[in-house]
Parts: sequence; structure tokens; C-alpha cells
Amino acid sequence: MLYLHFCGNCDRIHILSGHRTLCPACDTQLTELKTPYVTYIGWNVSQREDFMEKCRNPLSLQKISTVYAMRKYHPRNE
Ligand SMILES: [Zn+2]
Repeated sequence: MLYLHFCGNCDRIHILSGHRTLCPACDTQLTELKTPYVTYIGWNVSQREDFMEKCRNPLSLQKISTVYAMRKYHPRNE
């Protein structure tokens, strides 16, 4: 399964398999997004740009992100 993750450091959305907490590119904390991958790939360029703007704004990012209760499965979450 693919999931959307936003990295503020890279300033981009990473599409990653599984629930990740660290950016594969820069090792910074990722924010997992609620939007399903299949929804995202159905969007056009302007919809994706709107979405990126929401990711860049910490307040709207909170609303579109999900806090995954995954740390128990990955206790070595450094
Ligand atoms: Zn990154």
C-alpha cells in the first residue's frame, strides 16, 4: 500500500509504501497525510498545487494529516 507523506524539509510530498515517519531523502520527520494515494493520483496539477499549499501551512497540515498509531509497531522510531 502506498501512502502520502509530506516532508517540510524537502518541501514535497513523498509517496511511500507503508507508514513512514522519516523522510527517505533527508531523514527529517514526515507527516503522513489522510488523502489516499488513489485520490491523489486522480488530481490534476492545480489540485495537487492546492494540496501542497495546505501541506506548507502548519494549521491546514494538521487537518489533512493523520497521526498514525504505528509507533508501537516500530519502537525504534528514531
Ligand atoms: Zn525530506
